Amino acid sequence: MVALTEFAGSADRYQAIIDGKPVEAASGARLDMVAPSDGRAFASIPRCGAEDVDRAIKAAKRAFEDGPWATMAPADRGRILMKLSGLIAEHHEELSELDARDVGKSIKQARGDVTVLSRYYEFYAGAADKTGGETIPLPGGFTAMTFREPHGVVGAILPWNSPTQMLGRTSAPALAMGNTMVVKPAEDACLSAIRIAELALEAGLPPGVLNIVTGLGEEAGAALAAHPEVNFITFTGSPEVGTIIQKLAAENHVAVTLELGGKSPQIVFADADLDTALPIITSAITVNSGQTCVAGSRLLVERAAWDRVVAAFAERFNRLVTGPHSGDYDFGALINAKQRDRVKGFISRAKADGVGVLAEGKVAGDAEGSGFYVPAVLFGPVPVDHALAKQEVFGPCLSAIPFDDEADAIRLANDTEFGLAAGIWTSDIGRAMRMARKIRSGQVYINGYGAGGGVELPFGGFKNSGHGREKGLEALKEFSATKTVVINHG
Ligand code: NAP
Ligand code: MG
Repeated sequence: MVALTEFAGSADRYQAIIDGKPVEAASGARLDMVAPSDGRAFASIPRCGAEDVDRAIKAAKRAFEDGPWATMAPADRGRILMKLSGLIAEHHEELSELDARDVGKSIKQARGDVTVLSRYYEFYAGAADKTGGETIPLPGGFTAMTFREPHGVVGAILPWNSPTQMLGRTSAPALAMGNTMVVKPAEDACLSAIRIAELALEAGLPPGVLNIVTGLGEEAGAALAAHPEVNFITFTGSPEVGTIIQKLAAENHVAVTLELGGKSPQIVFADADLDTALPIITSAITVNSGQTCVAGSRLLVERAAWDRVVAAFAERFNRLVTGPHSGDYDFGALINAKQRDRVKGFISRAKADGVGVLAEGKVAGDAEGSGFYVPAVLFGPVPVDHALAKQEVFGPCLSAIPFDDEADAIRLANDTEFGLAAGIWTSDIGRAMRMARKIRSGQVYINGYGAGGGVELPFGGFKNSGHGREKGLEALKEFSATKTVVINHG
């Protein structure tokens, strides 16, 4: 990304939001924003640094300590979040178009994300006044109780793949519990976060409660993770950066939720309903161009059904088309040239290694040579120790691998450093449940994958996929701390 001091000829000069006001970076520096669909700059953002992050954290701390947010009736907090949910619904098309252009994702997928965003604020608005502590049995003469207290200032460092969903997933529960926030969205996709923070002010969120600091990870992100006045950090992104964030936060003894990558298996037995499985498994690796942490990137197929299953997937993959976000294509461009080259590198290395290509989709004619496109590829059989079977590609690339029986399927499913999600496809529910308990991953789906955004479902990883849980009611525990109060009343 190129740093610009002035964005030539465009009104789309976005600003960061600190203490309820649109602001420039203290340095005055800006970054241009590139649309992945055509590779051209269309807007610019402030390149915030440590000074701006400090200003945002001070504002969030003041809003937490002096403002009404943390101490107001939880039902009133809920009403403001519900109003925000409604405003997002009113601005649904505007936000979807902004995100689709910024991320390169198809407008259909961006609309789905914004629907989920609105649902996050609705869900946690309703939970704000229903989340309390408990009483604890002690000998007579004592009464003990717990309270769920906000951490204070929560820092959120977010990725570019689903910016609206990520902002909703972290900010809705954190705000519902009475925290204030400083959010550092990814530099490649931060425009929707700025707009949502504006709508939050319109909904009645007090200034300083939700601050958006734009800029680069190594500058604004690192300053946020290292700041001694941040009380809790939520990070979603790559395992490598997750390690950096956790080390920085450790210096201040600040707890961190890490939502990292995955290498999730789709396990298809011979008795699976293939008509149901085929579109869902295809979508789970192509939605958002495969740039999702829960992408089902390994297709484990029972050997007895191998020919039939891979032929059905090959037929589907040969018909997949990627193209501009505004068109009616199966999926859009990758986020930037670096990610496109990284994914293409995985594909060309696999081909050079002699891994079989079972099918390959296409780039739409009008998109060739412009944006950051990679057609879908189905590889198979992929050797179990090949990079395609082990590493997160983060692109529309599915690796088919045969297995012999239930025990073999469990062994292969767990044969990765990640543990985020798994899909099991079989008509034998006993087998599905035995496997669900033995697979080391945070989410297991049986005869399906995903559940309409999954706002209600606790979400997080095992192993190198991270730790901590967001979404569902569990997120309210993550974004609060237990305080125990004991009375010795005789
Ligand atoms: P990333 O490079 O780790 O970036 C994530 C965020 O961290 C961005 O805001 C980035 O800022 C920031 N960052 C980068 N370097 C930093 C540093 N040194 N200090 C502080 N912050 C820093 O990941 P990504 O490329 O955005 O996303 C791809 C990865 O995220 C994949 O591995 C994917 O599986 C994972 N992911 C996981 C989930 C989940 O829920 N588990 C969801 C989405 C993505 P800039 O980009 O602005 O530099
Ligand atoms: Mg962008």
